[in-house]
Amino acid sequence: MSPTPVKAPVSPLSTARLAVRPLGMDQVTVTGGFWADWQRRNREVTVPHALGWLERDGSVENLRRLDDGDTGAPHRGLWFSDSDVYKVLEAISWDQGRGSSDGLPAGVGDLIEVVRRAQEPGGYVNSFVQAGFDVRWDNLVKSHELYCMGHLIQAGVAYRRGTGRDELFDIARSAADCVVREFSGGRRKDTDGHPEIEMALVELYRQTGEAAYLQVAQQLVDVRGYGVLKASGHFGPVYYQDATPVREQTTVVGHAVRALYLLSGIVDIYLETGEHALLATALRQVESLTATKTYLNGAVGSRFDGEAFGEEYELPQDLVYGETCATIANIMLAWRLLLATGDGRHADTIERALYNLFSASTSVERTAFFYNNPAHRRSAHAPAPTQGRPQRAEAPGTRPAWFDCACCPPNIMRTVAALGAYVATHTDDGVQVHQYLPAAVDTAVASFAMETRYPLDGAVSVTVTETREETWTLSLRVPAWCRGAAVSVNGETVDVAANARGYLEITRDWRAGDVVELSLPMPMRFTVPHPSVDATRGCVAIERGPVVYCLEGVDQPEDVDLGRVELVVDAPIEESPRDVCGQVVPVATVEAVARDDAGWSRTGWAPLAQQPDTGSRRVRLTAIPYHLWANRGPSTMRIFVPVWGTQPGAGDEPPR
Ligand SMILES: [Zn+2]
Repeated sequence: MSPTPVKAPVSPLSTARLAVRPLGMDQVTVTGGFWADWQRRNREVTVPHALGWLERDGSVENLRRLDDGDTGAPHRGLWFSDSDVYKVLEAISWDQGRGSSDGLPAGVGDLIEVVRRAQEPGGYVNSFVQAGFDVRWDNLVKSHELYCMGHLIQAGVAYRRGTGRDELFDIARSAADCVVREFSGGRRKDTDGHPEIEMALVELYRQTGEAAYLQVAQQLVDVRGYGVLKASGHFGPVYYQDATPVREQTTVVGHAVRALYLLSGIVDIYLETGEHALLATALRQVESLTATKTYLNGAVGSRFDGEAFGEEYELPQDLVYGETCATIANIMLAWRLLLATGDGRHADTIERALYNLFSASTSVERTAFFYNNPAHRRSAHAPAPTQGRPQRAEAPGTRPAWFDCACCPPNIMRTVAALGAYVATHTDDGVQVHQYLPAAVDTAVASFAMETRYPLDGAVSVTVTETREETWTLSLRVPAWCRGAAVSVNGETVDVAANARGYLEITRDWRAGDVVELSLPMPMRFTVPHPSVDATRGCVAIERGPVVYCLEGVDQPEDVDLGRVELVVDAPIEESPRDVCGQVVPVATVEAVARDDAGWSRTGWAPLAQQPDTGSRRVRLTAIPYHLWANRGPSTMRIFVPVWGTQPGAGDEPPR
């Protein structure tokens, strides 16, 4: 139980209520495959791309001119653009923590110096407020002052953990001390309209041992839910997470990112204080979220209006909002719940998010991004505007290169940079593997090498390289989608079933050189939605392992309209390898019926059993991994497809 924080975004104290303990990214090295490649591109391509955009869009200049005294110039971009700078600095810091780059990227030292010079002697820093566009601490419902400082604190903690250096950490701590002076001891009764600083303050507490940071985080949670933000207008208290005290909340409501950042901070506070009501509310809300408000691709937050969660089972496919940041926030929350409970369901949530929406949010070149993520696109057009804000498209019709509200790209970057921290955990009794990828894992209990092509196939090999003398347990997650998992040690089958938390446990006297082979069968499968989801009733999707598939227009016969197809689900799904955008992946070929609805003319409805005739013919359609869509120009796309035979008047046999 090391008192020193591990090199990871979440590093609870040794006294924390943990079922499993995190490992640092220096203890889990991603050694190859999809994620290592993304981490390399993240460092070599995405970081320079982002640094360029932060200069171009004025985010850095907003801070720089505070030092120049040039405060008469207009603030460029949104009033919380400082946070984008901090999140990119956090991504760079985790990158350094992997020990995989040659020192700080060019210009980063100067960028930190820009932040330092913008900061007031008392620690306050906010380029919008300091330039006179808002009154300090006077408009917390909208100002994002604590939100921005929270991202600064997270970046500072990441910088200390990742680089061992202090420049950005000292700035962050000074900002936190400013917040403590302003808020602690109930000096103020309000909080920020956008939760985020709660988890940042807890992490700074973990880094420093200074109780005041934890106390302010707790205070900011406790005051929320009583209308303290006095929110009025279109976005009311529900949007701002200020309508219901957190301990009484039963499901996620309002703005999705706000809700999930708040819950992440709440679980952080539980881990350090042990207040069970906080864990209980988080688990209660997440159960509702997972069962009734999560899309197959890992999207959360269905509504464009208010970037909000909808009602239970309100999951429209063509109108889904699905902000990338919301799914990342769900990963952050799931990771904290995994640490708190050791329950593999939370690792399942992370896996579904990572291999689907998260990966689809970024182009294969890793320089263009989705803010909102479609699950069904009816025509090959440019992305829907995000809250009416213009987007800058580099590849027209697919993903923009940057956004005026640029929250998502840096969030993606910091998650990829720190990905190793989400792979495995440890306890006094063993090591738990939650995500399967090529990696070297080094713990006090044992070290091992994991080799796999996952999720291209479900074979995972773990070779023990060093081990302690005493018996310990290797726990391997069996994903909820998997049937027929099997495991062997040194070629001998181990007869063991997954435990209640979803893990195969192997306990023995390990020797260096022992080889564990895990097999997770992943045939192509049809997936049906919950029958209460009107938008997808009568439809199926295609999945293989953790990967959700989609039909993209560009892969289909030229005369097929994806709006008029139905899948024949009693025919097998054929699987074959194909190069899609430079990645050789299994693609699915499925039998389907294409309809010609010319008989309907311009009629939108008809009496039952008197529907106009529709011509139909048998076709074969191709499905690719959803995360690769929108890399080949504008295209139609859908994940869920109606099943042939479920429509009234469909006939008895599909056409030949
Ligand atoms: Zn975002």
